[in-house]
Amino acid sequence: VHQTEFALAVEGLTVSFDGFKAVNDLSFYVDEGEIRVIIGPNGAGKTTVLDLICGRTSATSGSIKFRGKELTRMKEHQIVRAGVGRKFQNPSIYEDLTVFENLEISFPRGRSVFGALAFKRDSAVVAKVAEIAEMIFLDGDLDKQAGLLSHGQKQWLEIGMLLIQDPELLMLDEPVAGMSVAERHKTAALLRRITKGRSVIVIEHDMKFVADIADRVTVLHQGKVLSEGSMERVQSDPKVIEVYLGQ
Ligand code: ADP
Repeated sequence: VHQTEFALAVEGLTVSFDGFKAVNDLSFYVDEGEIRVIIGPNGAGKTTVLDLICGRTSATSGSIKFRGKELTRMKEHQIVRAGVGRKFQNPSIYEDLTVFENLEISFPRGRSVFGALAFKRDSAVVAKVAEIAEMIFLDGDLDKQAGLLSHGQKQWLEIGMLLIQDPELLMLDEPVAGMSVAERHKTAALLRRITKGRSVIVIEHDMKFVADIADRVTVLHQGKVLSEGSMERVQSDPKVIEVYLGQ
């Protein structure tokens, strides 16, 4: 009834691996403009949920609707075209190319990796690259070889490579792992800045960072929602405390 109000509606989602339900009748809803953080102990099903949303894994049952579109049986590339971007833990950037080139080849019209570089650079792409580079704190490093960037900068570059495709849902797996405190703060600022007209889902273990960015937190446990709400609310939920202390 209410599902059309939400940007993302996950309902009754289940996936079994050899009879084991890694995600078990899971339902949750994400608003447009929301930063939702998914937390939970190891093996809770967090990665599998993102895999299901981006089409890497097929659901056994249930549905995933994004802005009214049923993603559940779409292929990975169709889900990308429907506006869903996913960043994995290890950045997949082109280390031999410059920051500029990495962003340029990620621009939607340049799907073919090598073809894009042969294109005449048009000013719209250059302007977009400049805009994104500034957002990800790399506007001073456009000509730098990506392989020479710091770990944190590589993470930002990959976020930039997704942003240049203008996704309406961005999913990030532990974006601040291995980052310095200063880089974490900048990443939080970056995420808050990109939520206009877009939703963000983040898997995260760093509770300080979660408190910093989350509009709402979904706690997963054994493939189900154990608790959900503001950080304060889930932190003081006895069920959550029990699961984390029991680890
Ligand atoms: P989390 O990200 O919360 O640590 P995962 O989503 O990676 O949890 O895993 C949830 C459970 O599903 C784990 O018990 C894991 O071993 C299992 N699992 C995940 N992917 C597969 C797979 N492809 N085949 C079999 N089991 C899997």
